[in-house]
Formats: sequence, structure tokens, C-alpha cells
Amino acid sequence: MPLLEVKNLTVRIETLKGSLSAVDNISFSLTEGEVLGIVGESGCGKSMASYALLDLLPPFSSLEAQQLSFLNRDLLHASHREKRNLRGKDITMIFQDPMTSLNPSFTIGFQLRESIMRAEHNKKKGWRKRAIELLKHVGISEAHERLDSYPHELSGGMCQRIMIAMAIATRPQLLIADEPTTALDVTIQAQILKLLQSLQKEFGMAMILISHNIGLLAHMANRVMVMYAGQIMEMGKTEDIILRPEHPYTQALLAALPENYSNTKHRTELPSIPGLVPDLAHRPTGCQFHPRCKEKFDRCEKELPELKEHNKRKIACHLYDPPSTKLT
Ligand code: SF4
Repeated sequence: MPLLEVKNLTVRIETLKGSLSAVDNISFSLTEGEVLGIVGESGCGKSMASYALLDLLPPFSSLEAQQLSFLNRDLLHASHREKRNLRGKDITMIFQDPMTSLNPSFTIGFQLRESIMRAEHNKKKGWRKRAIELLKHVGISEAHERLDSYPHELSGGMCQRIMIAMAIATRPQLLIADEPTTALDVTIQAQILKLLQSLQKEFGMAMILISHNIGLLAHMANRVMVMYAGQIMEMGKTEDIILRPEHPYTQALLAALPENYSNTKHRTELPSIPGLVPDLAHRPTGCQFHPRCKEKFDRCEKELPELKEHNKRKIACHLYDPPSTKLT
């Protein structure tokens, strides 16, 4: 049974420049215990798609969808209270910067207590013991003392471990990790990813892992969804997308990985994707990637490619979708 079903989701934001679609008609699903990696450059709608699931969209934004359901519960027509009960309990989220995600005015213990009480139907009794267990579970030593610390007294890596402890306190069915290592030192990043991976396996929870680094998803995700300008460019099993990418944007993301550069013999300059992600208030015509695509041809500027099944994946590119021939 699908855990999450998203059909034709669009998120619109009203700006001074006009209305724009930060997420443009995307569909995907997630089964229990599955890890879906969402990748793309900044501003491609990865985070906004997950905020839509949690009803955490910023002001002046709205969503529309044909279906948005979690464990067969209709999120589109759920009351505010129902959605609040789901958020932070069955679906939890960890954010990019743990230092700003934790409240600097309260101790770690106070903030953990809220998540624990949510899981224990507001019972206060025993929260301290459970908090210590959780901190130990995420690899925090001297857990007892840490409960009385404030966020500024801890390192970024420790704060992210605490955010993870808060996120698993309710034993969620789905954890959304939005760039969970981007704000951390390189040495800590691998530890946090390993921790997330082991907790996901231990609890059997599904996970949406959002990253701008496609290489990072290779080790963790069962499936990968590549987004550009709010749209899905390519989606399929991780091994197909990462070992045999077919969309020019996925290929460009992989070619731009620094580790691929350091493996080449003739190092000249770091590879990058020329140009910028389009201004969503003034989208280009046709394929959104065409101004930066090395493979573009006439049709690309005129016609938006549809996301279609091709070679064990879904892909939106005219290279794999010959124009239909009309009978004369
Ligand atoms: Fe490139 Fe054209 Fe494919 Fe877009 S549709 S990715 S411009 S080849």
C-alpha cells in the first residue's frame, strides 16, 4: 500500500513580480520503508514540495492537487487539527540548519520534552528517562547533562543529532530530511548520514531525503527524483538514474560532482552547469532546461516535454519522445 500519494501537485506563490509556480504539476508516491531522494539545484522546488505535504507553506502561497494522501488519509480536505496531529507525529522533518531550527531560549530537555509528550499522549511522567534514551540512541554522550544545555553550548553536529532525536521520538512513519548535512562540517556530514541510514533501517520508516548533491543519494535512496524549475525531469531506481542517467540535466548534475572531477586525468577547471535556474516568474518557453542544455534542438524551445515512461524510468525530454506523426 502506498504510504504517500501525490498527484498533480502545484504550489503557487504570489510575489511582487506576479504569481509563480514553485512546484509545477508533480506526481510521485512512496511506499512504507522506502527512501526517496529528491535532487536539484537551489530553487528547484525540492523543499517547497515537502512543505506542501506538511502544510508548512510560506505566506502568500497556496497549493492545488488532484490527490494528496498519507496512509489513505486525504490531506487535501483534512482539517487544520488533523494535519497538525499528523505533522510532528506520523510525519516529522529535520531541516538544513540545526542551529536555527532549535529554539535558542530553551534547554535541549525542554524542547525534547515537547516531542516526547506528543508521542505519549501528553503524559509528562517519565519524559526525562525517555529523553536520555533518545539522546543516547542518536549518539550523544553524557546525555544526562546535555538535557540542561542550551543550543548555543553545542556544536552543529550535536544540534543536528538532537533534531534527529526529536524527529524519531514519535516513531514516525515518514521522516523528511531537508538537506540535513549541508550546514555541517564535512567530517560530521558522513556521521549524520550514517546515523539517519541506521535509524531508517531500525525503525523501518520511509524517508524523503532532499539534497542538491546527487552523489549523496546514491548510498541512501531506493529511488531518485530529479527536479528542475519545480518540475520532475527524471525519476526512477537509484541505480538506473545514477549509473545510467539519461536526462541531460541529471547527466550535468553528475558531471558537476567534485569527486568526478578529481578522478579525471586532465584537470583544467571544475565542471559546472552553465547559466542559472530560470526566474520562475518569467519561465522560458518549452523545456525549462533548454537555455542550459547542450543537447537542445528546435523542438525544445517550443514544446514542454511530458514526463513519460522510458527505459525503466520516467523522463521529461524530447530526446526520448519522438513527435507523433500525423496521417495526411
Ligand atoms: Fe535538453 Fe531538449 Fe531534453 Fe530539454 S527537451 S533536456 S532542452 S534535449
